[in-house]
Amino acid sequence: MNDYQRKYIELKKQYEQSDEDADCVQALYEYKDFLEKQDAIEAKWVLVDVCETLELYKTAYETLRPLVTQTDKTALKRLGKLQGFQTQGDDFALWRPKKGKERKCTALPFFRYHPDPLETGAFSWTDSAVSCDCCGKSVQVYYDGPFYSVENINYLCPECISNGKAALKYDGEFQDECSLEEGVDSEEKLDELIHRTPGYSGWQQEYWRTHCNDYCAFIGYVGYRELKHMKLVDEILEDPVLNQQYAEPEELLKTAVNGGSVQGYLFQCLHCKKHLLWMDCD
Ligand SMILES: [Zn+2]
Ligand SMILES: [Zn+2]
Repeated sequence: MNDYQRKYIELKKQYEQSDEDADCVQALYEYKDFLEKQDAIEAKWVLVDVCETLELYKTAYETLRPLVTQTDKTALKRLGKLQGFQTQGDDFALWRPKKGKERKCTALPFFRYHPDPLETGAFSWTDSAVSCDCCGKSVQVYYDGPFYSVENINYLCPECISNGKAALKYDGEFQDECSLEEGVDSEEKLDELIHRTPGYSGWQQEYWRTHCNDYCAFIGYVGYRELKHMKLVDEILEDPVLNQQYAEPEELLKTAVNGGSVQGYLFQCLHCKKHLLWMDCD
């Protein structure tokens, strides 16, 4: 056994014992990045293993193909198997967790209805600072989601969203108030959601889910794969709204791929903690 294999076996064991923990998935992805830069043929073989574990079947197939000789029956068989899987591309691969750097060095105001806006990508990070259109302050974290206003705005800082100044100054909304699920009878909550909460980006008009007389928290962009990992498929399918909205919710859900044509948007009720989904198509 060579060092590349030894390291892979160690990482795989940690991953399997951790029940698909995000840190262990991240460690495998980082090892994949490392192996891709190695010239040694042994590293290439291990790269195939790592990609298979991460279910990056297309990459695994493309890495393996040049390594296989016509006399190596085992490798040929493996290549054939991967060839079948690789047609779906890398779309169903394990979800690569976001790097921790941006999160740790940035204190953001807390958004009740969008609690992790760096993770969801509502805010982006830049190494060279940009200036907030609203307050003029120079910032490294800027808003990267929808803002409905007459004026064209380039950059908004998290504070100008949180304190409502951006919405007030530009008479704008981060979420269309005509595209909300009914069931909240509070002007204050409505104001917080549409004027002081970073929005999310849908293929179609964004729709905000509601539960227990309040707007839900937007958790993030998901496909079937992610929901399966989070063990949320059954919970999501219990939702009567989903069953009213879509003719065959389960069938549609199975085709949902994060970043694909059928996209899922995951919400969670702030009160009963139930997870709710919204889906749309490109
Ligand atoms: Zn600002
Ligand atoms: Zn609830």
